[in-house]
Amino acid sequence: MAEKKITRIAHDTGRHWVGDGFPVSTMLSYNMGPEISPFLLLDYAGPAEFPPSDAPRGVERHPHRGFETVTIVYEGEVEHGDNAGNSGKIGPGDVQWMTAGRGILHAEKHGREFSRRGGTLEMIQLWVNLPARHKMTEPGYQEILAGDIPVAALEDGAGEVRVIAGELGGTRGPARTFTPVNVWDARLKAGKTAVFEIPDGFSAFVLVLGGGVLVNGTEEISERELAFFAREGETITVEARRDSTLLVLSGEPIDEPVVGQGPFVMNTAEEIRHAIDDYKTGKF
Ligand code: MN
Repeated sequence: MAEKKITRIAHDTGRHWVGDGFPVSTMLSYNMGPEISPFLLLDYAGPAEFPPSDAPRGVERHPHRGFETVTIVYEGEVEHGDNAGNSGKIGPGDVQWMTAGRGILHAEKHGREFSRRGGTLEMIQLWVNLPARHKMTEPGYQEILAGDIPVAALEDGAGEVRVIAGELGGTRGPARTFTPVNVWDARLKAGKTAVFEIPDGFSAFVLVLGGGVLVNGTEEISERELAFFAREGETITVEARRDSTLLVLSGEPIDEPVVGQGPFVMNTAEEIRHAIDDYKTGKF
């Protein structure tokens, strides 16, 4: 099988704050263009230490339209509440998969208990695009707890992968998606090698959260670096230099125009104007 070649490696260019709760490094952004489809954004928050606080930090109520937000918590606690009546608290290993669709208003905060105690927060927020025909779908919310996420063992005791979405070696993840998307939380053991099979034509990305890996026998990827891969090819070979935590993302590209402004991502500038109007006139 042909290998997916690395096309580039993105480095952490520094953190900025989302609200007062999430110090994030933006590793993927819809401003990068169609290369990253079906993904729109990847923010890596933390690890960051927070002192105890009575008022949970975070982001106040804000809108989204046209895509899905996926929050993966590694450490700490995040609470969500939206105007579709969904709310929940997720902790280490848990995932929240929110479909903004035609429009949602939500707040994202540190969990109350976590805020009172203080501690380390580490999480990912990934934005997954919706194809034009689903951009105005009903908002939805999937709370996927750690216990619901199946674990696939890698060959040769190389480690394990929590399959959040998509499929790996026959193990299927619980997330319902609108287009084919794989979200794999992989832990590799030092010195071991894993070969990930990803369909030809899918875009693919590997983010190193902890440790360091040699990819395809040629490129070293360190902590807080993200490798981009060519759509052609079907395998990515990863050798762990140290015990490593990776987020492996792949998906079928959505070959439609992407026009984004802040929390709205649509197909045309006209649709963005509508989104802003609808938000301002209380139609969310
Ligand atoms: Mn949000």
